[in-house]
Amino acid sequence: MTKIKIKKTKKSRIKETDFDHLEFGEQFSDHMFITEYGDGTWNDPRIIPFGKLSFLPSLTVLHYGQAVFEGLKAYLTANGGVNLFRADKNHERLNMSCERLCIPPVPLDLFMEALKKLVAIDRAWIPNKRGNSLYIRPFIFATDDYIGVRVSKTYAFIIFTSPVGAYYKEGLNPVKLITSGGYSRAVIGGLGEAKTPANYAASLLPAEEAKKQGFTQVLWLDAIEKKYIEEVGTMNIMFLINDVLITPPLEGSILGGITRDTVLTLASHWGVKIEERRISIEEVIEKAKSGALQEVFGTGTAAVISPVGWIQHMEEMVTINKGGIGHFSQRLYDEITGIQYGEKPDIFGWCYQV
Ligand SMILES: *Cc1c(COP(=O)(O)O)cnc(C)c1O
Repeated sequence: MTKIKIKKTKKSRIKETDFDHLEFGEQFSDHMFITEYGDGTWNDPRIIPFGKLSFLPSLTVLHYGQAVFEGLKAYLTANGGVNLFRADKNHERLNMSCERLCIPPVPLDLFMEALKKLVAIDRAWIPNKRGNSLYIRPFIFATDDYIGVRVSKTYAFIIFTSPVGAYYKEGLNPVKLITSGGYSRAVIGGLGEAKTPANYAASLLPAEEAKKQGFTQVLWLDAIEKKYIEEVGTMNIMFLINDVLITPPLEGSILGGITRDTVLTLASHWGVKIEERRISIEEVIEKAKSGALQEVFGTGTAAVISPVGWIQHMEEMVTINKGGIGHFSQRLYDEITGIQYGEKPDIFGWCYQV
């Protein structure tokens, strides 16, 4: 068993935090977990007050981006408990990302113990309103002081948490997407299936341009043929066509979302036919025109289910479900959040009680 040392803060910031107006990613809880890698192991795991770190300008990660991250949430449940949702999957994906970025893996027991202890210490930071939660950000980055290009020998693994409000303040709100045009996020063989900052760096400029044109996010097409739909960059994407749930397969350029897996598992449990296959933007437009396209939605930890109301591709704009929320999207949202908040039976054993 891992021994995690704990040094508590002398002055909590919780009273200064306005829990009625939580914006995503702006408030941070009192503590953070940290451990450093060197000489072949993760050393001195500890929980300390959330605060500044000090590094030299030669820190490897700042120059070559050798870093990975994760995102998950803790929920205050109906009976006053705390649920972590599918945290084992985040651990598995973290280590997959580590492998692609030449970062040493983190042992499962260290990861789970750190998560549980950190959330338990800052339990008072978990907002108690339905729809609110404590966002958890584990990440690892290269810490050698060296600017030659090579794999770092040392790393820091940190977890901190942030209380967040409901993604949609007034219920699900359909988003507007535009296809990626001349830009690509990732290509098979690249970094697309790793959760690493580089993929986000690649998406910033296209996202800015999309926003200027009045769209919420970019719908990424494959980098080679600019034809097949990949994902939204922070969310995976799914289509309900003639009652069949279709989503692009994980072939190397798409991130394997945990919410994606949750939706596929539930849908198949409900008897919905599922196809993990390539789907082109032309097919989506054609199925929208013929009336066969019933629903489109994104899946990700932040919003859980994000209905898509409009998709723009070149000169063409299609409206899905009259820009409203589909029954299937709503059912998925209600079921998944119901399990997360401990209101519905967790038949797949997805929740870890803290
Ligand atoms: C994190 C992420 C997702 C969503 O994954 P979840 O595990 O469902 O939150 C989708 N695409 C990209 C690129 C991501 O980084």
